[in-house]
Amino acid sequence: MYKGDSHVHSKFSADSREELENIFERAVELGLDEITITDHMDFADDEKDDLFVFDVEEYCRTLYAYRQKYKNKLNIKVGVEVGIQPHLYGRYEPILKAGCWDFIIGSSHSVDHIDVGHNEIYLKYKTKDEVHRRYFETILENLDIYDDISVYGHLDFIRRYGGGVHKDHKIIDLELHKDLIDKILKKLIEKNIGIELNTSGIRYGVNDFHPCREIVLRYKELGGKIITIGSDAHKAEDIAKDFDKAKKLLKDLGFKQFCTFTNRKVEFKEL
Ligand SMILES: [Zn+2]
Ligand SMILES: [Zn+2]
Repeated sequence: MYKGDSHVHSKFSADSREELENIFERAVELGLDEITITDHMDFADDEKDDLFVFDVEEYCRTLYAYRQKYKNKLNIKVGVEVGIQPHLYGRYEPILKAGCWDFIIGSSHSVDHIDVGHNEIYLKYKTKDEVHRRYFETILENLDIYDDISVYGHLDFIRRYGGGVHKDHKIIDLELHKDLIDKILKKLIEKNIGIELNTSGIRYGVNDFHPCREIVLRYKELGGKIITIGSDAHKAEDIAKDFDKAKKLLKDLGFKQFCTFTNRKVEFKEL
């Protein structure tokens, strides 16, 4: 059975200190066939406020060298996780068009210029339902603009945070937002952009996958087939965490395959 983790951060991300060597050694130890490094690139409105940036050329060159070094043991893929917002497309365009990516995760880490980890966003909206709605609206807005991403990252990430303001933030009112979630999933399918099943929510207190089972099921019902599995590990010990549960969920929902990417092209692997 093919094993791969499609969402892993290294010290090229400002919020990780993990050495690439440790990541690859851990992947080999776990018996993975492949691993995709997807470090953060999160731009702000102004370059001086950028949250996460790295030198793409140095990154790709470093990963290519490791790919060569591990070629008989592990398939190393070069990815990136871009924290997208509609008004920032112009800044991301050259990154998205760069040649070295196997895989691009587009993620919403900010809504209306505000990082979802900050209280400000929760103070701006009266209820968690309003925040959640705005979050999903921005995903839809992003999908009108960003065609170049392989999958949308952790679709319901907003439920991880409440800024201490909204206590019930972990529960998304799926009935209330059904119209919007359906529009997102239909647009993803129409644009041939996949989703990921991200296991980090299990470790970060949400006790669930991102997105939750119901959204993954709805994606399947609407005809979605492209789904990658990622740990979102920021340290080597979290690589492929809870992948047994993730694969079981996908099988329970009727999926027969999961996906990986090479040179931005999707590949289907048996679950
Ligand atoms: Zn993310
Ligand atoms: Zn991530």
